[in-house]
Amino acid sequence: MSTAPVIITIDGPAGVGKTTLAKGLARRLQIAYLDTGAMYRAAAWMLGPSGAEMQEDELASRLASMRFTLKGAGPESCLLLEDRVIGDQVRTEEVGLLASSIAALGLVREYMKKSQQKIGREISLVAEGRDMGTVVFPGAPYKFFLQADPVIRAARRCRQLQELGQDADEKRILEQMRRRDSQDSQRAIAPLVPASDAVSIDTGSLTPEEILDRMEAIFADKEVRSQRSET
Ligand code: C5P
Repeated sequence: MSTAPVIITIDGPAGVGKTTLAKGLARRLQIAYLDTGAMYRAAAWMLGPSGAEMQEDELASRLASMRFTLKGAGPESCLLLEDRVIGDQVRTEEVGLLASSIAALGLVREYMKKSQQKIGREISLVAEGRDMGTVVFPGAPYKFFLQADPVIRAARRCRQLQELGQDADEKRILEQMRRRDSQDSQRAIAPLVPASDAVSIDTGSLTPEEILDRMEAIFADKEVRSQRSET
């Protein structure tokens, strides 16, 4: 049996439930979870509001000084930047928009891709983001693409922000989310699109447990089929 790490990718727009589902699946499968949105958010936070306008050589040297690692194993693993846990200060819609701006830059994407692939070469992962199945782990055997109506996503995001103790206005969040979705899906490099071999799931009409059951069933079914084709 192969010991190569197994990668499961979960992509989709903001507020679609990626984090809950990626964490839940990692827990069910007892493997690590990689939140690549947190990497873009942390980089945006470190670069500040002028990050997207920075000169290329300055940007390259700032990026080179950012070292992302996953500490620990399995579902309890935790993403670190420079040995520090990435905190809730990056979880605002404003930082999300800044992240989306720097995420359109080739230098930033290349740096993130290399960091993410390095982590994925070392351990099995549920990796969530926008380009996990298309660009970063195109050979991953299990890929999911999540979607849901923007109004449902904005309401969900609003609840999450309120749980973090932040002020959250649903109308404003819907508007920011639409801007971010359009920036993310229209950028030239690694736009938000489903991989051709991803399983699409509408998260608007199912509970997280129902979706996880479906994901696990697909996972188990493919495992059986790949074992059959190996014999
Ligand atoms: O997933 P999250 O909302 O935390 O991501 C913040 C932003 O980071 C996204 O709007 C997107 O622009 C960028 N991102 C990306 N590629 C990823 C993950 C996040 O471009 N794999």
